Amino acid sequence: MIPEKWDMAADIVVVGFGAAGVAAAVTAFELGAEVLILEKAPEGQEGGNTRVAGQGYLNTSSAESAATYLKALCGPYTVPDEMVRVWAEEMCLNNDWLRSLGCDPQEHQHQPVGIEFPDLPGADCVHKFHDGPTYGYSHTWNRFESLVKERPIKVCYETPGRELIQDGASGEILGVRAQQGGNAIFVKARKAVVLTCGGFENNQEMIRNYLSGVPYCYTSGSPYNEGDGISMALAVGAKLWHMNNFAGPSMALKVPEFPTTFSMQALHFAKSVPGGMIVVGPDGRRFADEKFKTRHGKVPANGTWQALSTPCPMYMLFDQKLMTSGPLYDKTPSHGWTQIIERYDWSEDNSAELRQGWIKTADTLAGLAQSIGLDPEQLRLTVDRWNIQAEAGVDDDFHRALMLTPFDEGPYYAIEMSPSMLNTQGGPQRNEKARVLRPDGAAIPRLYSAGELGSIYSHLYQGTGNIGECLVFGRISARNAVNETPWS
Ligand SMILES: Cc1cc2nc3c(=O)[nH]c(=O)nc-3n(C[C@H](O)[C@H](O)[C@H](O)COP(=O)(O)OP(=O)(O)OC[C@H]3O[C@@H](n4cnc5c(N)ncnc54)[C@H](O)[C@@H]3O)c2cc1C
Repeated sequence: MIPEKWDMAADIVVVGFGAAGVAAAVTAFELGAEVLILEKAPEGQEGGNTRVAGQGYLNTSSAESAATYLKALCGPYTVPDEMVRVWAEEMCLNNDWLRSLGCDPQEHQHQPVGIEFPDLPGADCVHKFHDGPTYGYSHTWNRFESLVKERPIKVCYETPGRELIQDGASGEILGVRAQQGGNAIFVKARKAVVLTCGGFENNQEMIRNYLSGVPYCYTSGSPYNEGDGISMALAVGAKLWHMNNFAGPSMALKVPEFPTTFSMQALHFAKSVPGGMIVVGPDGRRFADEKFKTRHGKVPANGTWQALSTPCPMYMLFDQKLMTSGPLYDKTPSHGWTQIIERYDWSEDNSAELRQGWIKTADTLAGLAQSIGLDPEQLRLTVDRWNIQAEAGVDDDFHRALMLTPFDEGPYYAIEMSPSMLNTQGGPQRNEKARVLRPDGAAIPRLYSAGELGSIYSHLYQGTGNIGECLVFGRISARNAVNETPWS
């Protein structure tokens, strides 16, 4: 339905104010377009996953190597050569673009550790950057956000896009029906709409239908990313790609009081904490090396990489030594929605979380097993076997190398672990011009996309590649969108 009256209008309407939205909006503005951003979150919570990310972005050193590396990352889940080419060429230009806007790209100091798959061809193209001298808490996002705020680009907060308005005859996208304070508003896009509203990390129905191996999964990023861009694009005839790929799973605590997950220090590969700790599945047995540094959720399997197995419900079991060693959760606001936005103040001695029932305890293993619904005999066998292996310093079952500590005598503790993720990669498929495609391969007129909503990553993922790609396709989408002739 085309509305009789439009409430707002701009040349380019950008839906979603994260890194991809910034790159699209700023590029379009610099090319002379009037730009309007619709953002679902209230002011202060905009920025999506970008706001709470580790703040690194990719700038590759050679287009040729970058193309080789991306192809190797995709493996059998191939993407069109033309997409690889534009991604690779543009990925080398992120720093040039940011510098041209007054930003301050700084290379991460821990190179070459940040190369996620060093054995793959072309991997030496990886160079990770952040903005400004301090690496960490929201610094890059702050700079990105200021690029929008220092320009006359209107941002409508608490105004989620709900539906794309499409000309029934031509298929052209003419604008967006959004919601503001409970009312529908109609926003005209004279030239084009760019969808940059992130993934479906907080949409359990989509997770169940699209992500394999996880009956449910919770986000450590923005709870506002509920797959709206996927619903909107499907409704105007888009096709989807990479829906089963995601940066996860990991194992984390999810409680009903908060929308996002809490990561446990004892499970972090780089954190050494005292005491016995293992994770078991519903059969009371271990199923993985709990301290393995996954490659964004992927683990090696038979010469290839597969998503970490997460038999739900999972329980992290631990002893009194770990319980009394300090907070089980690292509340330092370095990354993650719970740390940066919720600022949950976890108690120093874990007592508040014990009282809240987030941590279960019992004097004996049998008592703990009963309280969490596991078979007491199997749990005893599992812990006995772990203790023998830990004392010998060899985990024959899963080859864990870190924190091989036997359990103390009781009391014992358990925390239910849920699959958690950083972000999804799937969404409407776009082409090398960032135009959203229909199932027959034709582009939907005047509809573009960028960012993790329909990302190029189909299989393996190189850390910092998501924000790098936001900048890449944000720019590409805007360059093409501003060349559209206004439809009025
Ligand atoms: C904890 C964490 C750490 C990470 N670290 C890194 C890292 O260091 N480097 C890296 O490259 N990647 C990292 N990632 C992944 C990366 O942050 C994201 O993939 C990337 O930032 C996505 O950017 P985007 O612009 O596509 O979406 P987002 O940044 O998620 O922005 C989407 C925006 O759209 C808004 N929105 C949603 N629905 C609507 C709607 N209907 N209408 C209007 N607005 C809407 C959201 O509120 C949000 O503001 C991390 C992710 C997490 C969670």
